[in-house]
Amino acid sequence: MSNGDLPVLPGATLGVLGGGQLGRMFAHAAQRMGYFTVVLDPDADSPAGRVSHNHIHTDYADVDGLARLAGLADAVTTEFENVPAPSLEHLAVARPVSPGASAIAIAQDRIAEKSHFTRCGVPCAPYAAIETAAQLAAVEDHLLPGILKTARMGYDGKGQQRVSTRAELVDAWQATGCVPCVLEKLLPLEFECSVILARGRDGQLVHFPPQRNLHRDGILAVTEVHPLNMPKTVAQGAINSAKSIANGLNYVGVLCVEFFALADGSLVVNEMAPRPHNSGHYTMEACDVSQFELQVRTLAGLPLAAPRQHSPAIMLNLLGDLWFPAGADKPASPPWAEVLALPGVHLHLYGKMEPRRGRKMGHLTLTGATLEGVRATATQAAVLLGLPAVAVTGLP
Ligand code: ATP
Ligand code: MG
Repeated sequence: MSNGDLPVLPGATLGVLGGGQLGRMFAHAAQRMGYFTVVLDPDADSPAGRVSHNHIHTDYADVDGLARLAGLADAVTTEFENVPAPSLEHLAVARPVSPGASAIAIAQDRIAEKSHFTRCGVPCAPYAAIETAAQLAAVEDHLLPGILKTARMGYDGKGQQRVSTRAELVDAWQATGCVPCVLEKLLPLEFECSVILARGRDGQLVHFPPQRNLHRDGILAVTEVHPLNMPKTVAQGAINSAKSIANGLNYVGVLCVEFFALADGSLVVNEMAPRPHNSGHYTMEACDVSQFELQVRTLAGLPLAAPRQHSPAIMLNLLGDLWFPAGADKPASPPWAEVLALPGVHLHLYGKMEPRRGRKMGHLTLTGATLEGVRATATQAAVLLGLPAVAVTGLP
């Protein structure tokens, strides 16, 4: 079977593995451009499945489900990195697939990912791979205190344990079931940032301006993007490193690279996500082309457009906690009408039926003519929603 011709033009069907909010926003972008969409996700009630023309409810490794996806879709992408790499290889026999299985396989595994960063000459936090009891015993003292992270399947800080002593490290590794892990030295972070880029099959590469990110409890809380959000040298260093990482993978698709900025102005890479990223949601309203449109274009083999940010932006994540104000015994809707009365507010809710603490239910993007105006609106929105103060830059 031919794996199909490119470009795949509007009117055709684009498929996505995974039915979460990223798949939903991909489907919206594809549909706006005149594509039909099909989602494969085992959950019959998934956010992307609800808005797609077709929804295949099978496991990601189900051969019949994959065959149906290949039959309906003219090209296939993924919205999360834990999709089995063999499923992508299987689909790629029949259809154009991006990102490719080999890039996904590296991004799925923190040990392989860190080796790739090192190969590209991009420094990461000092770490040790722990796959055996002998490697555990050989861990050097300077890595403590540190964070033990499972090599696979971690997200939103899940699968991570902070450890200060060797005894804690041993207990923590045992608590993982002795699965492969990395121990990373705990670094004093000045701030966190990320770069989102898109790379086409022909190697054309475009990127968004670096985002400055604030995490709470290991989950992204606030993203702030404008020319003063970080020193220019740091921003340029992050862009250069992200490009090296993408080129080194011969990557096709949208890629997010997360960094830690340290007090001395240096940068270390944290991890990469082979897909659009939560820190890039502001691109939908603050840029002339969004991260999801670039995912469509890279998948379809269409030309990429260098994005232009036309408004300063702040993004606030809306976690399920907001549905449970102090003392509430059952969920209550946050005060959307009051929030929407503010200027430059863009509300996104992902259609998840059940709010739960720590669950990403949606996000709010604030845009405006000036940074001061956007910050003022963000502060007012945060007060209305009961969120902590929002300014993350520390710069004037
Ligand atoms: P996600 O996939 O949602 O980004 P994750 O579960 O893969 O998250 P990481 O990105 O590894 O987790 O870590 C989550 C957060 O924990 C980071 O954004 C940072 O705030 C903190 N963190 C992780 N590693 C370190 C470190 N070595 N030193 C200091 N802080 C760290
Ligand atoms: Mg992360």
